[in-house]
Amino acid sequence: MTRATIVALANQKGGVGKTTTAINLAAGLAFQGVKTLLVDLDPQGNATSGLGIDRQSITHSIYDVLLKDFPIEDAVEPTSVRDLFVVPATIDLAGAEIELVPVFSRERRLGNALKQIENDYQVVFVDCPPSLGLLTVNALAAADEVMIPIQCEYYALEGLSQLLHNVDLVKSNLNPSLEIGGVVLTMYDARTRLSKEVADQVRGHFGDTVYRALIPRSVRLSEAPSYGEPIEAFDGMSRGAIAYRELAREFRRRHGMD
Ligand code: ATP
Ligand code: MG
Repeated sequence: MTRATIVALANQKGGVGKTTTAINLAAGLAFQGVKTLLVDLDPQGNATSGLGIDRQSITHSIYDVLLKDFPIEDAVEPTSVRDLFVVPATIDLAGAEIELVPVFSRERRLGNALKQIENDYQVVFVDCPPSLGLLTVNALAAADEVMIPIQCEYYALEGLSQLLHNVDLVKSNLNPSLEIGGVVLTMYDARTRLSKEVADQVRGHFGDTVYRALIPRSVRLSEAPSYGEPIEAFDGMSRGAIAYRELAREFRRRHGMD
C-alpha cells in the first residue's frame, strides 16, 4: 500500500473556488476509481454540506480530531460517491484558531492525525478556510503539496505573494518537502478579455504548475452544493463536470495514477 498524497487547497482570498474545487476534484478522482478523502478544515463547513452531509447527523468532526485527540478514522463519513469520504467540519471549528494556541505541537495536529490513515486513501484533500491562521498552517504542515485556486477576475494575483511567503515559512520551519503542486484557474469566462488576460498572466508567473484544465464560470457548479452533490452526479453533461473530469485526469497523470 502506498502512502496517500496530501493536497491542501489554499488561498486566503475568499470565494475563489477552493471548496468547489475540493469537492469536484475529489469526487472526480473518486468516480475515476481513486479512493479519496476530503478533510473539511473550514468552520463554514461548505465542503461538508456540499457533499450532502447533514449537520444534525454529524457526531464527530475535525474539531474533535484537532482538539480532543479523537481518532480521525472514527470521524470519517461516507458520501454518495463510493470512493469518496469526508471528515466533516462544524461551526465549533471557528474557535479552534484560538483554542489551538496553547496546545502542544499546535501546528502538527492535523498532520499527526492524517498519519493514522495515510495508508487507507490514495489522495487526501484538505479544504482550507480563507485565512492564513493556524488551521491553514496545520494543512500546509501536513501536506505534500499546495493547490492554489485562482479566480480569473480583477485582483486575481493580489495577496498571492503573502500566500507564497507563508508556504515558504512552513517549508523552512515545519515541512521541508512541501511544494506548490498546482494552480487551478477557476470561474473562467471565455467571453471576456479579462479572463484570458488573467489566465495568461498566471501562466506567465507559474508556468507549467498551472493545470491546463480551465474551470468555466457555470451556474450549474454553484447550484450543485445545495443538492449535496458533486457536479458529476448533479449534471454530468455540464461544462463544469467536463472541466473537473479533465482536471481529475490531469491530476492523475501528474501523480502517476493512470
Ligand atoms: P471561501 O473562501 O469562502 O471558502 P472558496 O474559495 O471555497 O470560498 P467557493 O465556495 O468554492 O470558494 O466558491 C465561491 C462561490 O462561487 C460559491 O457560491 C460557489 O458556488 C461559486 N463558484 C465557485 N466556482 C464556480 C464556477 N466555476 N462557476 C460559478 N460559480 C462558482
Ligand atoms: Mg471554501
